[in-house]
Amino acid sequence: MQLNEDQFAKLKTKFATLKEDSPFYAKKFDGIDLTDVTTQADFEALPFTEKADLRAAYPLGLAAVPDEKIVRIHSSSGTTGTPVIIPYTQKDVDDWAIQFARCFEMAGVTPQDRVQITPGYGLWTAGIGFQAGVERLGAMAIPMGPGNTEKQLKFMQDMQSTVLCATSSYALLLAEEIEKRGIRDKINLKKGVIGSERWGDKMRNRIKNELGIQIYDIYGLTEIYGPGIGISCDYDCGMHYWDDYIYLEILDPVTGEVLPDGETGEICITTLVKEGAPLIRFRTHDIARIIPGECACGSKFPRLGTIQGRSDDMMKIKGVNVFPKQIEEVLQEFPELSSEYQIHISHLEGRDTMRIYVETNGTVDFLEMADTVAREVKSKIGFTPLVKVVELGVLPRSEKKTKRVFDERYE
Ligand code: ZN
Repeated sequence: MQLNEDQFAKLKTKFATLKEDSPFYAKKFDGIDLTDVTTQADFEALPFTEKADLRAAYPLGLAAVPDEKIVRIHSSSGTTGTPVIIPYTQKDVDDWAIQFARCFEMAGVTPQDRVQITPGYGLWTAGIGFQAGVERLGAMAIPMGPGNTEKQLKFMQDMQSTVLCATSSYALLLAEEIEKRGIRDKINLKKGVIGSERWGDKMRNRIKNELGIQIYDIYGLTEIYGPGIGISCDYDCGMHYWDDYIYLEILDPVTGEVLPDGETGEICITTLVKEGAPLIRFRTHDIARIIPGECACGSKFPRLGTIQGRSDDMMKIKGVNVFPKQIEEVLQEFPELSSEYQIHISHLEGRDTMRIYVETNGTVDFLEMADTVAREVKSKIGFTPLVKVVELGVLPRSEKKTKRVFDERYE
C-alpha cells in the first residue's frame, strides 16, 4: 500500500525538523537530506529502524522533544535484558486515547457500557491505554488490572460489566471459571476486546461460546503508542488499523523488500504524527498481511490479517515463505483431524522439504486424507508438503507449550 496524500503530507512536516529534534534520527539518517524524500521510492530507500537501535538508545535517547514536553514514559521489557523506553508528549497520550476510543467504537461499545479492564497497569502500555480509550469514549472504566479472579468475578456480577478487556489466556481462564461456578446467568458480558497474543481459532471459539460474547482482536505494540492502533470489526475479517496515525508496510523478513498487498511478511510501521519518539520504518517482527479491498463493514480504514507469529518463526520451503500458523490454519479446516500436529523441515536431495504429521481416528482413509491435506496446503500456501497421517494419540502431548516445529536442516 503506497503512502497516500495525507500520509505523505504528514511525513513531510515531520521530516522538516526530524533530524534537528531527534539526535537518534540525526545519527541514523546521517548523510541523508530528508527534504529529498519526495516519492514512494525515496521513502522506501530510507534505512529501517530496528529494535536493537531502540535498546541502544536506552534510557531516553529516543526523545525528539525537550524534557519539559515529555509527560510520561512507557517501556517494553522484551526477553533480552535492556528495556526500550518510549517517551510520550501530551499530544501522543491524547492521540493514543483517540485511537483506542476508535477501537471501542468499532467494537460497538457505547457510553452505556461498563468496561472491565484486566490487562496490567504500569510501565507496560496495556491497562492505561484501555482505560484512556474507555474514558475518551465516555463509557465506564472498571480498572481491575490483572489477576485476583475472585474479585474479577465479583465485580463482573455486581457491576454488571458488559465489556471484558483481557489477554486471550485470561479471558479463557475467566470463561472456564464462570462455567465451573455456574454463574453464566449472573453476568452481563456482551463483548470481549482481546489483545496481543497469538491464539488459535479453537481457543477463540471456546471463549466466544462459553461467555456468549462477540470477540474483537486488538493490535498494537509499546513502541508505537501501545495496543489500540487497530481492531477487528463485526465482520471479523482482519483488523482495521488507523492509517491517519501510522503508515504500514509489509516486508520480506529476509531481504527487507516491500511486498505487495495480500502477501504475508513482516509488519513495518512509520508513525506519522508522534512527537515524543517518532519512529520511521520500524521493524516489528510481527508477521501478517495487508488484506486488499474494502471491508463489508464499510470502514475505509485498511485491514491487517491475523498476526501469524514472529519473523523468527519463518521457514522457507521451495522458495515460499511459510509460518507455522499458516499450516495450522489449513489443518484446522479439517474436522477429521485432531488439534495436534508436527512440522518437520529437512534438506533432502538439494532442497528443503516439509513433512507434516497429523492425527485422525480409524474411520478415515489415511492415504486419501494425506493427499487432501497436501493439496489444500498447495492451494493455500503454494507448495506441496509430504503429509503423514497417524492414529489419534500418537503425537506427544504436553501440559506446557508443545513443540510442533522441528527444523532438521541444521542438525
Ligand atoms: Zn470491517
